[in-house]
Amino acid sequence: MQTRRRFLGSAAALGAALAAPSLAQGTPRVVVVGGGAGGATAALHLARQAAGALDVTLVEPNPIYTTCFFSNHYIGGLRSLDSLQHGYGGLAAAGVTLVPDRAIGVDRLARTVTLAGGAVLPYDRLVLSPGIDFVPDSVPGWSPAMAEIMPNGYRAGPEITLLKAQIESMREGGTFCIVTPPDPYRCPPGPYERISMIAHVLKQRNPTARILILDPKPKYSKQALFEEGWQNHYTGMIERIGPDMGGDLIEVRPQTMEVVIDGEAEPVDVCNVIPAQVAGRIVAEAGLTDDSGWAPVRPEDMTSRLDDSVHVLGDAALQGDMPKSGFAANSQARVAVQAILGALTGRAVPPAEYASICWSVLAPGDSVKVGAVYAPQDDKISSVHGFISQMNEDAETRQATYAEGMGWYDNATADMFG
Ligand SMILES: Cc1cc2nc3c(=O)[nH]c(=O)nc-3n(C[C@H](O)[C@H](O)[C@H](O)COP(=O)(O)OP(=O)(O)OC[C@H]3O[C@@H](n4cnc5c(N)ncnc54)[C@H](O)[C@@H]3O)c2cc1C
Repeated sequence: MQTRRRFLGSAAALGAALAAPSLAQGTPRVVVVGGGAGGATAALHLARQAAGALDVTLVEPNPIYTTCFFSNHYIGGLRSLDSLQHGYGGLAAAGVTLVPDRAIGVDRLARTVTLAGGAVLPYDRLVLSPGIDFVPDSVPGWSPAMAEIMPNGYRAGPEITLLKAQIESMREGGTFCIVTPPDPYRCPPGPYERISMIAHVLKQRNPTARILILDPKPKYSKQALFEEGWQNHYTGMIERIGPDMGGDLIEVRPQTMEVVIDGEAEPVDVCNVIPAQVAGRIVAEAGLTDDSGWAPVRPEDMTSRLDDSVHVLGDAALQGDMPKSGFAANSQARVAVQAILGALTGRAVPPAEYASICWSVLAPGDSVKVGAVYAPQDDKISSVHGFISQMNEDAETRQATYAEGMGWYDNATADMFG
């Protein structure tokens, strides 16, 4: 497999490589689209475990992946941006062919993926793990074109840095507003952990500042634990307007830096807008989403219910009881890898088992968690055993939970990127 290791730097190089007989002849081809939590895990483990019996290609436009998970720690000043960034050298070393391009179409009859650069990749199995896209106009007044004024920072990229800078330079006593998304969305506790970290920054730099949450949901993940943490660490700083008070009837005005709540305009200084979400566009382009905007999958192996030669992983999938998390995407990828090895190399396939734990930091050294193990039951991925941090836990327990989360990040990213 060492001889197939390559980094294809252009569409021309890719065309030449695909024309080379060594790539296609007789070796089953797996194409993975998206090099994030789900896709990188799938590509790495397929290449490692197949040990040359499969031709594994990863299509990912960015040379460096910046994790959304733990980006709230970066906003809170608890870790550096560098520490969130991962390259694909480990995948290349394992024998994955890296294609730095974007998939723009899937022909499921011909079993090919078309790339923006013009190349066409044939596959025997396709893995799609492109993450999320935003629902256009789901927050009236906001569009991606407004993201430089009101960033979302909910997909990896420079908006996280912009949001952090805006918070740090907010005028004294100003208002930070966050518009949270309706269910289902990436990382259910993510917006509320972000609020905790922003409150932590403001408490030190700008203690008279105010945090306003506009929330279309009646309740949210780990709500009681977050509210207890905010009461303990950031007393009086955070106000949440839920749907009972108009949190679902809002508009934003980036040009005048206002939010309109149930018809009443209010000035804000920084505004983080996290719109409603659907599966990353390529999944819809492939015709694998349903009316919900997400891709229904079989719980035994993460194959699409509409095409059993395609696996949809991570946030893009309709995941039964699982949250849309990096932990979940990694776990789902491991199940899909076994199914693919079984289908293409004849290896025995173990029964599917999944897990996810989401740690959330309330303040440095004070974290809470929620998690479960899952299995295929009732034709979906069902929770078979769950757990959640308790209210009023002692400081040592919270410190241990904080350390556990840090340890998970290191182990998980090693498992994704090698
Ligand atoms: C603020 C925040 C905090 C979070 N905290 C946690 C946490 O503590 N724990 C946790 O487990 N999870 C957390 N998450 C969630 C986690 O980041 C996601 O659930 C996870 O990244 C999903 O993995 P994925 O593979 O589905 O998508 P991603 O990791 O987003 O990867 C998608 C990849 O696909 C690529 N791509 C997209 N379209 C194409 C295309 N057409 N062609 C080629 N490539 C494409 C993208 O460039 C990207 O690299 C957090 C998320 C946020 C926003």
